[in-house]
Amino acid sequence: MSSRKIRVRFAPSPTGPLHMGGVRTALYNYLFAKKQGGDFILRIEDTDQNRFVKGAEEYIIESLKWCGIEPNEGIGFGNGPHAPYRQSERKELYRKHVEELIAKGKAYYAFDSAEDLDIIRKQWEAEKKTFAYDSSTRLNMKNSLTLDALKVKDLISSGASYVVRLLVPENEEIHVQDIIRGEVNVNSSLIDDKVLFKSDGMPTYHLANVVDDYLMQITHVIRGEEWLPSAPLHVLLYRSFGWESVMPQFAHLPLLLKPEGNGKLSKRDGDRLGFPVFPLEWKDPESGEVSSGYREKGYYPEAFINMLALLGWHASGDKELFTMEELIQDFTLERVHKAGAKFDPEKAKWFNEHYLRLKSDKVLAAHLKKIAADEFGLKGDDHRLKDEFLLNAVRLLKERVQFEHEMAEKGVYLFMAPADYDRPLIEKKWKPTHGGFFQALLNSLSGMSGFSAAEVESVFKETAAAQGVKPGEVLQLLRVFVSGQGGGVDLFGMLSLLGKEEVLERLEKAMSTAVSV
Ligand code: GLU
Repeated sequence: MSSRKIRVRFAPSPTGPLHMGGVRTALYNYLFAKKQGGDFILRIEDTDQNRFVKGAEEYIIESLKWCGIEPNEGIGFGNGPHAPYRQSERKELYRKHVEELIAKGKAYYAFDSAEDLDIIRKQWEAEKKTFAYDSSTRLNMKNSLTLDALKVKDLISSGASYVVRLLVPENEEIHVQDIIRGEVNVNSSLIDDKVLFKSDGMPTYHLANVVDDYLMQITHVIRGEEWLPSAPLHVLLYRSFGWESVMPQFAHLPLLLKPEGNGKLSKRDGDRLGFPVFPLEWKDPESGEVSSGYREKGYYPEAFINMLALLGWHASGDKELFTMEELIQDFTLERVHKAGAKFDPEKAKWFNEHYLRLKSDKVLAAHLKKIAADEFGLKGDDHRLKDEFLLNAVRLLKERVQFEHEMAEKGVYLFMAPADYDRPLIEKKWKPTHGGFFQALLNSLSGMSGFSAAEVESVFKETAAAQGVKPGEVLQLLRVFVSGQGGGVDLFGMLSLLGKEEVLERLEKAMSTAVSV
């Protein structure tokens, strides 16, 4: 088995937008495959027609592309040797395989109608028992084990509705060896005769999943913890088909938990606490309801991926910041945790902040230019649309934002004079005696020839000293008069960037409208 090429798959069902937990499953599969020089496959598991949601498949593909998790084979990424990769297009394969199981005596036709089963269930319930279709009951039911062969043939050719069930052996030990969880043992008597093939001619998830993993030569099944209870049944299916020697190894990933740590992270937590649980924005095709996405919220894919990688896995050292390439190098399934991973929205922002700082000033300046034009309405040869101004603005803003779009909110006063001021702050800080200082400051600023941050700062300090005012007393007032706000980017850097004329104009306006001198 060790000589087989590593092949893993991500097998989502197109039942809605991909949850970030699903993206993490795809990511761990991808990292594992890349590290070993293996293949990563995308398979769409769409056998449950009732749960099919329009647009979900496209959403999955677009999400993986945005994240940089590119499969080697699969829908949307170029077909490989095992096409088709959409289960609804593989129906004949499942039928063929289920017939093989029946011929081997490992599965059987069952003709019990939904109503028959309902009646039996109710009877059992009345006796405080739970009905299971298994070795203890199957011989009392209407199936190819109890009906004679001719009758079975007759029923099938006359178009009677039937399902195919797995003949689960009685009292056999089933071992599931899980790379993350160790050995899980289950007695087969606890498993009922699961339906493998439904009356609508479609396989169930279990059959299609196992048949495809076998045919696609999957070596490792890496998936969410919610599938752990199905693993013994899957082992049994491999056994029934006689495929045990090529059975994949299993690794069940821990759940993503709410920020409070209790329970599975859901869309409702995101709505409640204001963070996305989906990689991209999603509009429900039925209700029209829009759910927010990391991409639209301004997260960089590299930040999203770095954050997800560490939700349930730890690196070999203390390092927290990883490029995809570094993740591939360091990733092992052995370091995936058993316990659920608590999601921390603040940490997600922290990762974005880090990746923003790594962006070149030029890239951020281009974004700022767009904001200046689209949001602040600057046009033509306005000097604030020029590289020099924009690059300096970026240098001031870069350390103060976590997202590119925040440069608009936090940097508005670099582009526009304040429409109003933080009045409560002025009321708190302003004393009539400050009037003299600000008049003197206006004078000394207007006499300056250079206007660098350092020059403005020393003129400010000299003026304060000459006026007998402590710099700390008037510093924030100066800021609020020029920017309208009590906090923000480096004050003297901002003044220097705005330039002498603009600063004088803003200060004069503030003196005449915001305070009584
Ligand atoms: N279709 C299943 C899902 O939506 C796949 C589970 C598996 O990976 O086996 O999660």
